[in-house]
Amino acid sequence: MNLSKFVFAFLLVCFIASLPSVAQNRREVAIPDILGYQTLKCDFHMHTVFSDGDVWPTVRVQEAWLDGLDVIAITDHIEYLPHSQDIEADHNRSFEIAKPLADQMGVLLIRGTEITRKMPPGHLNAIFIKNANLIEREDWWEACVEAQEQGAFVFWNHPGWKAQQPEKTLWWSEHTRLLNAGILKGIEVFNYDEYYTEALKWADEKKLTMLANSDVHSPIGMTYPVGQKTRPMTLVFAVDKTEEAVKAALLDQRTAVYFNNTIMGDRRFLTPIFINSIKVMSQKIGLKNQDISRLQIHNSSDVPFLLKQRQPSVGFSCPDDILLEPHRTVTIELTGTSDEVAQMSVLKMFYEVTNLITKKGENLPVNIDVPNR
Ligand SMILES: [Zn+2]
Ligand SMILES: [Zn+2]
Repeated sequence: MNLSKFVFAFLLVCFIASLPSVAQNRREVAIPDILGYQTLKCDFHMHTVFSDGDVWPTVRVQEAWLDGLDVIAITDHIEYLPHSQDIEADHNRSFEIAKPLADQMGVLLIRGTEITRKMPPGHLNAIFIKNANLIEREDWWEACVEAQEQGAFVFWNHPGWKAQQPEKTLWWSEHTRLLNAGILKGIEVFNYDEYYTEALKWADEKKLTMLANSDVHSPIGMTYPVGQKTRPMTLVFAVDKTEEAVKAALLDQRTAVYFNNTIMGDRRFLTPIFINSIKVMSQKIGLKNQDISRLQIHNSSDVPFLLKQRQPSVGFSCPDDILLEPHRTVTIELTGTSDEVAQMSVLKMFYEVTNLITKKGENLPVNIDVPNR
């Protein structure tokens, strides 16, 4: 090697070494594990260029990883393929392209598709399928039966979508038929930026699993700009992050839906989410009549909890409303109102959380107990 070649090689090495390494930061979603289950953050509905989406399948994996998701399903339409002149492929292709990257990044990718029909029955997602090509059928019922035979978990997408149900969100006899055949197992209570009151009611009445999904078509940041809006998620309470465990949880209705700083679900999940998120910091209050004592409450979750007093406390007063901001500690004042308070070993406060909504559509009642004396 002559000197000029050596100098060139040296400069090349220096140049490469000086290139910034591309580091990405995943935003972890802080919602606690509960009841011995892992709280998995999931989005089971999204599109790519292989149907009517704007992005390549691997982009969906990268977005999911950055957004702190654990599990996703890419669910390209079977019957609506506006890019088919440019992209000729079968219905399994988007999954196959995304899978190696998903494995590498630790995002669990579930194979899925969207059965796309006019109302009724509208759009249905089938996830945990084996072969999307076989679900392409003339008859919607046959498509659903094929999905079921493949072991799919089928859910009704955006039931109140105005393009299909402009006047009223109706439940059709076709849905009853799907339900009775054991095919329909879930329903989107929230899709994109729409919440469907009827779907919450049906989830409760008909024992359907509740889901909240993005149904994203554009790059995710175009729909949910960073720092302004978080994408909707289905919280799945699973024994671990495996396909089997996620499917078992969905079949067992072990989910809650998380969107716009609100979580909706069964009380048995919401109560431990709240309890595991907050910590009452003050050890001993020693409240007496006419005294003012301070209590600190820390919220270690990403969810701001909005508390409203639902019943007055005995012997003391506490604030009507408390906002427990994410990752903050709040100080609240308790004021003794009778001599009774000095004798109490526990101070009991009765609130409801206005952004934790039960399956019955009610605010979650919570009690906060603080040791006194
Ligand atoms: Zn759809
Ligand atoms: Zn869709």
